[in-house]
Amino acid sequence: MASRQEPIPEGWEPVSGHHHHAGLININETCYQNSVLQALFHIPAFITILTVEGPQCKKNPCTSLLCAVYSVFCEMKKNKTVSPTAITSLYPLHFKLFQLGRQEDAHEFLVQFVEIISSELQSRILQRLEGDPAVDIIPATYRCFGGLLGLTGICSCKSIHEVDDFYLHLFMPLSHDTNSIQRGIEQLLNETEDVLHDCEACKKKMAIFHNSVKVKYYPQYLVVQFPKES
Ligand SMILES: [Zn+2]
Ligand SMILES: [Zn+2]
Repeated sequence: MASRQEPIPEGWEPVSGHHHHAGLININETCYQNSVLQALFHIPAFITILTVEGPQCKKNPCTSLLCAVYSVFCEMKKNKTVSPTAITSLYPLHFKLFQLGRQEDAHEFLVQFVEIISSELQSRILQRLEGDPAVDIIPATYRCFGGLLGLTGICSCKSIHEVDDFYLHLFMPLSHDTNSIQRGIEQLLNETEDVLHDCEACKKKMAIFHNSVKVKYYPQYLVVQFPKES
């Protein structure tokens, strides 16, 4: 399948040009959500995606998470204290596993958040392309938060296969043995499970990718989570 990578729109302001702070009201124990929003509010590439996509939506009422975040961030640019109700009101729709009033995990929230925004971006772009199913859209969030893996495999018919695999998250355990990010990534890639691939030469599902994965590019932004109990 052909893939089309949506570029991150260019021309965003540097972090210093976007320097503004606003407090977020903690609604029903959503401090984990607010800490994620505060971090994202200071990522220029993410702000640019929102400012390009947000105003294009003409739905009213709208249940898009992207639109809700865009409206909260616009408020944060203008005010000192902002209530993120536009986002918390979408929990029953988008964050079914998260319960208002209960402490939740900031990292789990961020993972789900980025996945939802990515799939919303994907369907918006597909709509603009009038749904060309032959194109696999890789939204710009993958350039911010994700990266690209290169998998190489040799089929029993001797043909060599190279496949690109976009990722949004790499769950990389860091322990005393893997005390650097680089070593953590190496260990993660070594533990990658076999991937079967259709061989176009012999028409069999033969090419196996194992221990032949390399990172083609890394995300622009790195999120490191420290486990609660260690
Ligand atoms: Zn909308
Ligand atoms: Zn083959």
